Formats: sequence, structure tokens, C-alpha cells
Amino acid sequence: MSDIIYLDHAATTPIDEEVLEAMLPYVTEQYGSASTLYSIGRDASKAVDEAREKVASLIGADPSEIYFTSGGTESDNWAVFGVSASKSKKGNHIITTKFEHHAILEPVHYLEKQGYDVTYLDVDSDGVIDIEELKAAITDQTILIAIMHANNEIGTIEPVEEIGKIARDKNIHFHTDTVQSVGHIPVDVNGIGCHSLAISAHKLYGPKGIGAMYIRKGSRIGRFMFGGGQENNRRAGTHNVAGIVGLGKAADLAMHRMESEAQAITKLRDALIDGVESRIKGVKLNGHRTERLPNNVNFSFDGIEGESIILLMDMNGICVSSGSACTSGSLDPSHVLLALGLKHEQAHGSLRMTLGKDNTMEQMEKTLDVLSDTVDRLRAMSPLFNG
Ligand code: PLP
Repeated sequence: MSDIIYLDHAATTPIDEEVLEAMLPYVTEQYGSASTLYSIGRDASKAVDEAREKVASLIGADPSEIYFTSGGTESDNWAVFGVSASKSKKGNHIITTKFEHHAILEPVHYLEKQGYDVTYLDVDSDGVIDIEELKAAITDQTILIAIMHANNEIGTIEPVEEIGKIARDKNIHFHTDTVQSVGHIPVDVNGIGCHSLAISAHKLYGPKGIGAMYIRKGSRIGRFMFGGGQENNRRAGTHNVAGIVGLGKAADLAMHRMESEAQAITKLRDALIDGVESRIKGVKLNGHRTERLPNNVNFSFDGIEGESIILLMDMNGICVSSGSACTSGSLDPSHVLLALGLKHEQAHGSLRMTLGKDNTMEQMEKTLDVLSDTVDRLRAMSPLFNG
């Protein structure tokens, strides 16, 4: 395992050892349910509260505004279904973008089939929405604007502060998916002015299957999980105490490390981008060159398939991806790359490399060597490439 060069941190991150250590007691001897009155239950409840404080302070929220969920997908689904349920008297119009994660797009498609009216905003060739198009799309029926902070495939960062201001002025619920940004770049709920946001622990060196939803105090949003009275009666289900403690620890570590980590990773990212552009012909960087996550590199390679590059890179111990983790099992080209205006063959020829805190410059050099050899080999066999 240790020889692997792992460049798929947008899919998931390895768990931090300190996070694992913090979680372990809650998997073993501290097994009490956080909703009980005896001492091991009260200890669990205290651990949940401490984690809530840590998550809140990472995003500038009040602890009472944090609700633990099973991850980014649940938080995004909650936003779509919860807002539509609570605002049904106000209207039935939802605004989102063509390049959201499926955790937003699928529930929105579902509501569309039930009769909701949906506007899917375009993005420009760098993946940025047009603020004027957003303003023009708003009607007196608009109940929800759901626009992500940073895109999982191409890393482009959206102008969420401007979106937040427009939504506030019009009194429309603004939900932002910050699964890829929290813990990696500053996210401040008051700076953004959102009403809700989604967090997932496994994207910031925490465990899988746990996440959080921030809901601004006073925001009306219906329940999504019905059952017990956990999470202040808003999200039912016995607390995943170990997972919550892990998320809290990951948030705390991110708070202290984010700035230096982002600086170091940006250097690696830029070295990889420069290396690909100088060593390989017929490439196109996808996503915004500067307004992008510190860890994201996404290229299209003329004349070859991303999947073939992945398999050959894997044979050399390098883990990369061709799109989002959820779509990489499918043969459809990425909806994100198509939204940027890429042709189908360019979208098929794309490769995403997302870096993490344990990557090194030496690994970037090895990756560049393997990648340029791989691209040469595949192009030599490709009937599509005539460069
Ligand atoms: N939103 C974005 C932008 C993501 O990248 C992901 C995961 O890939 C999710 C939501 C879903 O998060 P989770 O895996 O915690 O359900």
C-alpha cells in the first residue's frame, strides 16, 4: 500500500491517524447511545456535543445550527426535499446548475417529475455560473437556489458570496454543497450568507458514512428522516457516535492545518499542471485556472480514453480518476464536462488527479513520467489521434 501514489482525494481521503485514534474508544468500550441517561450514554452525548462545536467553529456557525447526517448525499437530499416541503405554499420553482453533484441533481429531477419547475443554470467554459443569468431566472415562485461551492470534478469555485447576497435580498433559501471545499479552503457561513450547507467527513480525512448539515437559525426546512427525536427533533436515527467524533476531530485538524496544507498542495498542483502542459501535446486544462480548489487537476487528452489512462496508471501504482466517483462506473461522458461545452470525445478523454496532504513533489515527478509515457503509448495505438 505504501508504494501507491494516491491522487483521488476528491473521491475520498485516507482517514487521518489522529481521527482514527479519537474514534476508537467509541467503537469499543464507549458504546453507549448518546440518547440515554446512564454515564456511558452521557459520555457519548458529551462527545457528540464537542464534535458539534468543532464542526461549527470550522464554518463560523453556532453549534445549534449543526445537524449530523449520514454524509453529503443525505444533507443535499435534505435541503432539496426539506425546503420544497416547507415552502410548498410559497412556490414550486427551484434554481440549480447543470453541473451539480448527483446528490442535488437526482432529488431535483425527482421533484421535476412531480411537477416542480426547475431552472438548470449554464456554466461558462471554466465552469462558473453567470450571476446575471441567476438574477434573471428568479421568479416570485422561486423557493430554493442550490449551487455548489466547489465542483468535485474540475475544482472550479463558484461566487457563492454573490449568490448568497442575491438569495438574501429576495428571501430565497440558498443551499450550497460544500462537500469538496470544507476543510480545504475557508468556508464561512456568514460570509457566504447561505441558509444551509452540506459537509461530508470522508473528504477531509474523516470516516465514510458521516456528515453534517448546517441550517441557519430560523430557516424553515422540513424533516427528511422521520423516527426518533434526535438532533433536536430534526434528524431521526441513533447517533453514529464514533463517526461524529471522527468528523469533529477531522474538522478540528482542518482548522489548524488548512492554510499550510493548501499552500503546499497548491505548489504540487501547479507543478503537475505545468508539467502536463509542457510535456504532453494535445491537452486541455478543464476548470478555472486560478479560481479552483488547491488540490484539483483535470485535463482532457486528445485522441484517447480516460478509462484506458486510469488502467495503465493503476498498473504503475498510481490512483487517478476520470470523473466523479459515482459516475466513473458508467460509460456516459461526465455531465460536468459536457456542461463546460466539451465535445463527447474530449469528455471521454479526461482525467482527474486530486491531491492530498501526504503527496510529495517526487510523486508528482513520477506521475508526470508515467502519464506522458501512458499517453504516448495509447496515442500510438489510437485511430482517433493524428497529432
Ligand atoms: N457532493 C459533492 C460535491 C461530492 O463530491 C460528493 C461525493 O463525491 C457528495 C456530495 C456526496 O457525499 P457523500 O459521499 O458523503 O454522500
